Amino acid sequence: MTLLLSCYELGHQPLSLAWPLAFLDEAGLAATAVDLSISPFPKSEAKRAKFVCIAAPMHTALRLGVEAARRVREINPNAHICFYGLYAWLNRDYLLSEGLADSLLAGEVERPLLAQIQAVLSGEPVMVVADPIMARQSFPIPKRASLPGLPEYAHYMHKGTAVPAGYVEASRGCLHTCRHCPIVPVYDGRFFIIPLETVMADIRQQVKAGARHITFGDPDFLNGPGHALNIARALRAEFPGLTFDFTVKVEHILRHRDKFPELAALGSAFVVSAFESVSETVLARLGKGHTVSDMETALNILAQAGIAVQPTWVAFTPWTTLADYLAMLDWIRRRGLIPHVPTVQYAVRLLIPPQSALLAENEDAGWLGALDAANFSYAWRHPDPRLDELHQAVSQVAEQMGDGDPLAVFAEIERLAYGMDGRTPPADPLLNLFQPAPPRLSENWFC
Ligand code: SF4
Repeated sequence: MTLLLSCYELGHQPLSLAWPLAFLDEAGLAATAVDLSISPFPKSEAKRAKFVCIAAPMHTALRLGVEAARRVREINPNAHICFYGLYAWLNRDYLLSEGLADSLLAGEVERPLLAQIQAVLSGEPVMVVADPIMARQSFPIPKRASLPGLPEYAHYMHKGTAVPAGYVEASRGCLHTCRHCPIVPVYDGRFFIIPLETVMADIRQQVKAGARHITFGDPDFLNGPGHALNIARALRAEFPGLTFDFTVKVEHILRHRDKFPELAALGSAFVVSAFESVSETVLARLGKGHTVSDMETALNILAQAGIAVQPTWVAFTPWTTLADYLAMLDWIRRRGLIPHVPTVQYAVRLLIPPQSALLAENEDAGWLGALDAANFSYAWRHPDPRLDELHQAVSQVAEQMGDGDPLAVFAEIERLAYGMDGRTPPADPLLNLFQPAPPRLSENWFC
């Protein structure tokens, strides 16, 4: 039998299971899928499985996936374990050398994964590791019936209510090549459209299962703006009460500014946008393709359209000075954005995974350490030790105060950051320009 495991996907019902299940179903192959973020480790299925697939689309998922692989090895040493997804491919050397994986796939993986399963089940040899797969696939409708129901997953929260949120992807990969992004070593500036009919059929089945809001999980919804608008129009026409959110880069907010009023009218409640830093140096180092002044313009475009923004940050990088961190807090404070920024964002520290595009140009940098393979990233130390100390302290606040009152959390982070600089935080009261709280999901975005 075949066992598919997912570990963590930001609180969404995992497409990394629903899509392979659909491809297997089309081929007449049965499989059991378990989302370990909700369900316990399936001991008896793992014992019987001939093929175990482990999804690793992000860092946290891989960490949990490695634990799952160790458990599978312990109780069923003969099972073939295939890791798939971005982080699987980036960390392939570690996964193979530790004996955790027998094969690895990344990119457009579902059809190759099916071929791999068929080969193992019939005793044929399989490819251990392939280059990222960039072949266009024809997509069946994701198969969600055997997965935990939407009430178990992230909810859309607004005006004191929380309703189940569905999750779809209208495209995969990304047109852009920001240097810190784990998508880049795999997709290298390419993206693939999911046909409108497939996306709508997936939305339809999730609405039937209780979804009252849809998250478009594309790395950037406006990589294909015409496609995105067509889907948003189709969604509105069929489900007039449904709201949605999507991720979009600052550059795209500016380039497609004329589309935002229509997106708002079609039901766009909020967007997640990677602002990253208020330092032009850091933005340039990350290759973001936007400036701080572009961030201001993006805020205005979204405010005029009536779409809330959830800005995300890489708060700590080797190039971020203490003055930059304080400037970021000041920028957020002055724009009344405190309730829009999830606490975890103040503690995000640059991750440099193996194969990162940042490695080549920083190989001689004094701050860059050795590969910490078991933690799937390169070690680095800030040239100013106060920043590493501040990161530790802010991470603790994020952990302890988490989803507490955003103003209280922000005040505590300000106290720590200004204190690190021997100063006291600004005396002006913290602004909360948004009552009630802006719309968001119950599970916050982070990478
Ligand atoms: S950070 Fe966003 S825009 Fe940049 S490459 Fe990654 S997904 Fe694309």
